[in-house]
Amino acid sequence: MLQQLQAMTARFAPVDLAADVTALPPNERRALAALVEAAKVLDALFLRQVWAGNETMLLALLGDQSDLGRARLRYFLINKGPWSRLDDNEPFVPGAPAKPPQANFYPAGASKQEVEAWIGTLSPAERVSATGFFATIRRDSDGRLTTVPYTLEYQGEIAQVAARLREAATQTGQPTLRAFLESRADALMSNDYYASDVAWMELDSSIEPTIGPYEVYEDEWFNYKAAFGAFITIRDDVETARLARLGAERQEIENNLPIDPKYRNPTLGALAPIRVVNTVFSSGDANKGVQTAAFNLPNDERVIAEKGSKSVMLKNNQEAKFRMVLQPIARVALSTADQGNVAFDAFFTHILMHELMHGLGPHSITVGTRETTVRYELKETYSAIEEAKADVSGLFAVQFLLNRGTLDASLSRTVHTTFLVSIFRSLRFGLNEAHGCGVAIQLNYFLDNGGVTVASDGTFSVNPGRMRQNVIDLTRRIMTLQAVGGYADAVAMIETLGRVRPEVQVVLDRLRDIPVDIEPRFVTAEALLAGAAQ
Ligand code: ZN
Repeated sequence: MLQQLQAMTARFAPVDLAADVTALPPNERRALAALVEAAKVLDALFLRQVWAGNETMLLALLGDQSDLGRARLRYFLINKGPWSRLDDNEPFVPGAPAKPPQANFYPAGASKQEVEAWIGTLSPAERVSATGFFATIRRDSDGRLTTVPYTLEYQGEIAQVAARLREAATQTGQPTLRAFLESRADALMSNDYYASDVAWMELDSSIEPTIGPYEVYEDEWFNYKAAFGAFITIRDDVETARLARLGAERQEIENNLPIDPKYRNPTLGALAPIRVVNTVFSSGDANKGVQTAAFNLPNDERVIAEKGSKSVMLKNNQEAKFRMVLQPIARVALSTADQGNVAFDAFFTHILMHELMHGLGPHSITVGTRETTVRYELKETYSAIEEAKADVSGLFAVQFLLNRGTLDASLSRTVHTTFLVSIFRSLRFGLNEAHGCGVAIQLNYFLDNGGVTVASDGTFSVNPGRMRQNVIDLTRRIMTLQAVGGYADAVAMIETLGRVRPEVQVVLDRLRDIPVDIEPRFVTAEALLAGAAQ
């Protein structure tokens, strides 16, 4: 039991996650420390959102000093509850029930059918709040279902968080940060997040906090209810400037895509904002199981319609994943010669290009005389095909920018091999997930067309010349399939290429003891709080 738990925990490699805050003046550091304190409150709040029994179980685990007790506590904190998120939520603490799919957003004992039927009886206005992001469903004293706003449900914690945000707002000298913190504190107290989501989109500050109720995945019944989480980060100015330079090349990349010119978009819209940041602290829904490496918010359609959405890339998280997961995979999966061609700069540059390329290529298309979209035509195959497109055309874009001298020449040696390692990392999360299926398509295409080869000892290598041509050809094939809305071709592509072949499985089996992800220790946040306490 102890051994099994230790093996499960070992899949998360402990790592010190640091961010350089030396450039911040003392008042901004005090603001940052207050934000870390605000974020800490959300850990307890999120535990309660996941399961009503979580806080009691945590207290019991804290009191158990045995080796087994300590191992359970550590894995509980990684998973934010007694269920292993990497193993289909298998419980690992005795006495834990099956993970409730409705989390703690609906009354204990209520069935999904009962809640659905009740929602059906509501007036349109009542239905909006009952199905909204920021309210739980409870029973009143007569046992009837009723809507409880987060302001009431979580009032104790919310008041603490709002106070910390206001404290940070008084410290900072950065106007857009102050505006966000004050409006987010107001939102927590009023349950109306619209203005603060807009202020978050307008942030232009060395400190980039994301804090509040956001993602709805924990509510597996309806995906209605937002879980509390926080990413307290600082902006990486060097990478942000580099990204702006790459973003400026988007139209040039589009104009040179290896597809029929009639499928190219002559006027791309404005680039959605992308920030590169380093994590100082994360909590709640933003720090559970596998760590987030990038996110896109807000989720409020009104804000998206008016302001768009913003992508945030967590650079130090990516760097830690690269060091603790990618590099060990490279030592097992690659030939000795290829192991020297794996580099973080290549990994991170390709992730940036992947994000940019989602916006390029066919989206709104014409099938016959019908105006439609790639998403609509490709149906359930859309996500895997679109992820494969972003990856392979991201490589195409790197090749194109290398030819133009826009990117550092060392990438021509490292970008393909580093991506090959990244393919193995993604395959470990399974083919049911869009990214996993997308990388399987690419790997098999490269194997069939000579860009990637397998040696007799089972290790993989890149053939650079063939690989560059494979990247162009596969980009053309996928984007043309998208341009014509080729659903049948997409199904066939996933059928034939979206698989783990025996020679790939051999490598995946050899990766068993390599961590799947990281368990961050927020050393910069700890130092900040220690400094603030003095
Ligand atoms: Zn993507």
